[in-house]
Amino acid sequence: MQGLMQDHPLTLVHFFDRAERLFADKGVVTATATGRERRSYGEWADRTRRLGGVLDTLGISDDGRVATFGWNSGNHLELYFAAPCSGRVLHTLNIRLFPEQLTYIANHAEDEVVFIDRSLAGAVWPLLPTFETVRHIVVMDDGAGDVPDEAPDGKEVHDYEELLAAASPVGWDVRDEDQAASMCYTSGTTGNPKGVVYSHRSSYLHTMGTMAADAIGASETDTILPVVPMFHANAWGLAHSAVATGADLVMPGPNMNPKALAEMIETEKVTIAAGVPTIWMGVLPELEGRDTSALRAIPCGGSAVPKSLSEAYREKTGLPIFQAWGMTETSPVASAGHVKSTLRDRPEEELADLRATIGVPVCGVDLRIVDPDTLEPVAADGQAQGEIQAQGAWIAREYYHDDRSPESFTEDGWLKTGDVATIDEHGYMRIVDRTKDVVKSGGEWISTVELENEIMGHPKVAEAAVIGVKHPKWGERPLACVVVAEGEEVTGDEIVEFLDGKVAKWWMPDDVVFVEEIPKTSVGKFSKKDLRTTFADHELP
Ligand code: ADP
Repeated sequence: MQGLMQDHPLTLVHFFDRAERLFADKGVVTATATGRERRSYGEWADRTRRLGGVLDTLGISDDGRVATFGWNSGNHLELYFAAPCSGRVLHTLNIRLFPEQLTYIANHAEDEVVFIDRSLAGAVWPLLPTFETVRHIVVMDDGAGDVPDEAPDGKEVHDYEELLAAASPVGWDVRDEDQAASMCYTSGTTGNPKGVVYSHRSSYLHTMGTMAADAIGASETDTILPVVPMFHANAWGLAHSAVATGADLVMPGPNMNPKALAEMIETEKVTIAAGVPTIWMGVLPELEGRDTSALRAIPCGGSAVPKSLSEAYREKTGLPIFQAWGMTETSPVASAGHVKSTLRDRPEEELADLRATIGVPVCGVDLRIVDPDTLEPVAADGQAQGEIQAQGAWIAREYYHDDRSPESFTEDGWLKTGDVATIDEHGYMRIVDRTKDVVKSGGEWISTVELENEIMGHPKVAEAAVIGVKHPKWGERPLACVVVAEGEEVTGDEIVEFLDGKVAKWWMPDDVVFVEEIPKTSVGKFSKKDLRTTFADHELP
């Protein structure tokens, strides 16, 4: 027997319609180089419909790829909906990728047009001639930077506002929920980036999933600051959920420095502020003396969240960091670290440990932790380690036109995440490491994540990253790279002493080196790849 309910397509048009009809007086504020620009969802909706008209006028194909090269902004939010709601595919380019990777992904996705923030135009202009399929460049004014006089060969350059003013608003008609809505390439730590293609249906379900109270739980009453870029895994779905719920959005634009972010949190009365750990490490001292009483959640993920960072936030703002886990391939939100009601009465120290896990899968996603060779689940004892594999309606099933897909998916249809984790009897998962970062010492694995977390708990340490370096006897041994907190002094021996009793003896770093800064990847994570290159020939004592 079949159900007798309507077969209504799940598309982003529904979210757009809600903001336009129900929340026209709510909206988005963007920090530009010259001030803050406010736009109601009413104005936003009218401009987004005109932008649909612009894409028609520019002759972008029915399912053409519309690339963006921009900061988080109200304009970017227009593109987030105009491209998919008009049937095209939004392709967010990561502005911090290496030039050759940008050329690769623009050509691989066959982008037809690129919308560029003026402050970034100078940097990307020399690359544009290598974007073979791009015919139009549209510059959006974000208050800074210069547009080079000369148009790249064979391409037309336009001004965003002029195009919008001349365009007529269009209606949306997306019938097929499985149609592509947007795409995003992984940042490609090895080899070329891989393309993930989201459908309307997967983006819709991901938005509904993240809006659940036990996930991120955005609601109409929220004011959301996505510090996580719109080009990094869909800003964790926050741009979509703000439009769907009618929450206000606060977009940092190019003002990503800690002081500017802290100021926005205070003055815009932000309730949800989301970003990677390195962002929150920088912002913490800037919160001193500020009123952050409106804040109700600080979602954080993308890399390991040190317990000490979460606890420092709890002390300063009353709110520990709220950890989530995911990846570009999982839309990205796949697990969230709320404390279950049955565990709430535990001592504060145990709760802090729980919050340092990636929590349990969000409703809508299945995660399993298995031996990667046998696919047997590991014991739920908080000790046994295995790979996290994912399945669900917003998890990728293959990469876009890429013969590397078979390596990343199991035959029974699960995504192999490459993340090593443990799971306890309550279902809480703890990331041990990424397969490629773990230190393989004498056949045993040492978790660099755990070592880093402990080292970053030292009051005189600002940042720490651990990598494996070659060792004649053990194969690899841990090397700790440490950034000393401003105005402090600490020795390698003191760091090792500090770890005594906190980690197994054989996990102790063989050496500690002090560096000015931990190199970061294009999305602000510690770049262990760069550290491994720098210390490739490091001689352990
Ligand atoms: P990239 O592969 O460029 O880092 P992603 O943002 O897709 O881009 O990265 C996903 C990876 O980030 C995950 O596979 C995992 O290793 C790491 N990650 C995400 N969230 C967490 C978290 N809460 N704790 C530890 N690692 C995380």
